[in-house]
Amino acid sequence: MIAVPYTGSSQTDIEMSNVRPPLQSLDEQVESRVQAIRADRDWWPCRRGCDYCCRHLAQAPNLSPAEWERVDAAVAALPIPIQAMVQQRIEALLEQVVEQGPGSTVVCPYLDEQEGACRIYDSRPLACRTYGFFVTRDHNQYCEQIETEVNNRREEAIVWGNAEAIRHDLNRMSGIPIPFEQHYDH
Ligand code: SF4
Repeated sequence: MIAVPYTGSSQTDIEMSNVRPPLQSLDEQVESRVQAIRADRDWWPCRRGCDYCCRHLAQAPNLSPAEWERVDAAVAALPIPIQAMVQQRIEALLEQVVEQGPGSTVVCPYLDEQEGACRIYDSRPLACRTYGFFVTRDHNQYCEQIETEVNNRREEAIVWGNAEAIRHDLNRMSGIPIPFEQHYDH
């Protein structure tokens, strides 16, 4: 079976060309905050080569329509053999989601597991841009490395964020998130 990206009403109700500039602006806001955090904390473990988050997602990607559009374009731009590998990973994850339901961690289908790097890095979702900088204990959404740093360094390691505000802005501009299995129209 070929998993086909979703093209239902919630994706077409909003004019995507109007959403791209504010989404890019949100990316830039997050990036500037991340750079500022890194500049003050050279011990921060999040960097290329660490793919712990990508291997331990609390759920399959659940993205806004604008983010899905960007992910789909990035996947479509990959070399054909790589696209085929990603497609296989998507289909395997669809089966896993159906069999196991919510609550089990999953490996992101866009991860290059050999390189420990994202295949669609420039088009990755907003949540990925804040990984390591955003911790919530609900649904095991935290990184053990960051937890160790926080335990050892206490206040120095804690950065107060505004993930809820980012999520709110994203929903307002792009519409409600679309679950992975719905996007790929299982
Ligand atoms: S989209 Fe990229 S950065 Fe985000 S979880 Fe997947 S592999 Fe990691």
